[in-house]
Amino acid sequence: MSSKHSFIIGITRLRKDPGSVMSFELSGTITDLKVVSSYVKDDQIIEVSGVAESVHGGILISGEVSTKWEGECRRCLNPTFGIMRIPVRELYERAGPESELSSQDDTYSYSGAIIDLQEMVKDQVLLELPLAPLCKDDCRGLCVNCGADLNLGPCECEDAAIDPRWAGLDILADKDR
Ligand SMILES: [Zn+2]
Ligand SMILES: [Zn+2]
Repeated sequence: MSSKHSFIIGITRLRKDPGSVMSFELSGTITDLKVVSSYVKDDQIIEVSGVAESVHGGILISGEVSTKWEGECRRCLNPTFGIMRIPVRELYERAGPESELSSQDDTYSYSGAIIDLQEMVKDQVLLELPLAPLCKDDCRGLCVNCGADLNLGPCECEDAAIDPRWAGLDILADKDR
């Protein structure tokens, strides 16, 4: 539990006054936000802003989660990063003794005078992390032959392919198969 716990909203006033709206701006860090080839650093600030609204059935949270992700480009393997901005809209239902029996996994709940958004923020970021990041849309990737980064310019292989001195080797390579 090394993550800074800063995604908490006090809702005492909202609960006293149904229909009322409160805006909030929170930021903090969450650890272990990673998928196969991208992640959010453990000390990266995650911002959450929006409004909490007292509605029938609970507290409706709507706003935006934003942070920076980092990862490895799937084509050139260079480090890459991007900013994610995720629109969120979630209803937090009040957890009571009776609702615990029927609690559903796809809804969030609160009890008492606070709502902790951390779990929702974590879920949203994990869903949004790119599984196959690109450093740029037209990344040229690595040469399959020599491994050179083709974003830096053409490699020697292009010339070699049309150099007749190498033609014989190609034939030998074919025979091996
Ligand atoms: Zn790339
Ligand atoms: Zn090459």
